[in-house]
Amino acid sequence: MTYPPVVTTVAELRHMLMPWRKDGVALVPTMGALHDGHLSLVEACKKKTPHVAVSIFVNPTQFAPHEDFNSYPRDLEADRARLTSVGASMIFAPTAKEMYPDGFATTLLMKGPAAGLETDFRPHFFDGVATVVAKLLIAAMPDWAAFGEKDYQQLLVVKRLALDLALPVEILPVAIAREADGLAMSSRNAYLTPAERQIAGKLNRVMKDVIALLERGASIAEAQTLGTTALKAAGFDSVDYLALRDAADFTPVTQTGAPARLLAAARIGKTRLIDNMAV
Ligand code: AMP
Repeated sequence: MTYPPVVTTVAELRHMLMPWRKDGVALVPTMGALHDGHLSLVEACKKKTPHVAVSIFVNPTQFAPHEDFNSYPRDLEADRARLTSVGASMIFAPTAKEMYPDGFATTLLMKGPAAGLETDFRPHFFDGVATVVAKLLIAAMPDWAAFGEKDYQQLLVVKRLALDLALPVEILPVAIAREADGLAMSSRNAYLTPAERQIAGKLNRVMKDVIALLERGASIAEAQTLGTTALKAAGFDSVDYLALRDAADFTPVTQTGAPARLLAAARIGKTRLIDNMAV
């Protein structure tokens, strides 16, 4: 098996994709430290086309100064080996300077699905994500791009920006890959100590309990309060949010009935975990 080639400039990326365009090209944007969740995105794209490019770029503009940009796990050779196993065609691993040339002055300002939840705690996060995703989509011009439901709000933001900018790409949503105890796979799980890892596995279980409460007729406020209390009792230090949103347009849900999504963000030690589930 040969490792997928790595290119670092937009010009090389476009050159490499050119002969593949007639069959269609797919892109999987990532920040690296790849796990099985990322690989499932590549597999989803492989069902559409043999030509799947994976971008690996830890995007500085979506991190706040106090966040983990410097310590975010980076291991390009390990990522290459993992991508070989699922048949990725190439890797685009640009430098920050390639993505943000000197004097960079263009930022997308996201509203709609970007409002609330993540933005309440990370105000510039989705503007950073949207700007880099738009740049990656314009650089690669893929026919398909895969995004995980793990980052559900992000998935809706990306769908919105593709529609608003009329980008000729189909966004493929991919289900959340989980560990045996239900913990959503994440590059940040590597930060957890063994004791924290035990606690982390309880996030998805409490969320399932909250959904069961709602199905038994509990009010949204009641289920939220019980869920937040249960997370703290399970060992989480704080809960950023545990909230119900419309699954399609992400407006806050006040009544159960229409397809909704339960979303949570909670912190243990220095790690912030997110998860979501269909209701
Ligand atoms: P990241 O490298 O964390 O920025 O994630 C890159 C892509 O992989 C995003 O579309 C994520 O939603 C997706 N992803 C990350 N973790 C998972 C997971 N556990 N299951 C499915 N997709 C995931």
